[in-house]
Amino acid sequence: MPIYQYAPTGDQHCSICAEGFELLERLSDTPLDQCPACKAPIRRVISAPRINTLNPNMNADNVAKKGFTQYRRIAKGQYEKTAGNGPDFLGCD
Ligand SMILES: [Zn+2]
Repeated sequence: MPIYQYAPTGDQHCSICAEGFELLERLSDTPLDQCPACKAPIRRVISAPRINTLNPNMNADNVAKKGFTQYRRIAKGQYEKTAGNGPDFLGCD
């Protein structure tokens, strides 16, 4: 599954999106336009997706060392952490 990196586009941000975060998404998933945690406007900052399994340098340990938190989508608007130091779940109920 491709990994996309997101970062806030403006001044508004929270501890999750301030430094950017990564999200495992299917190609068919609609890109996020707001942070799942704080609703700040965000955008994809890497246009060409990396394929996780083809890039051994981008495993979970490296994600955490770089200061990113990586999530994958578990349901509409809900995200589960797969790597890093951020909260275990993001989402709005
Ligand atoms: Zn945020």
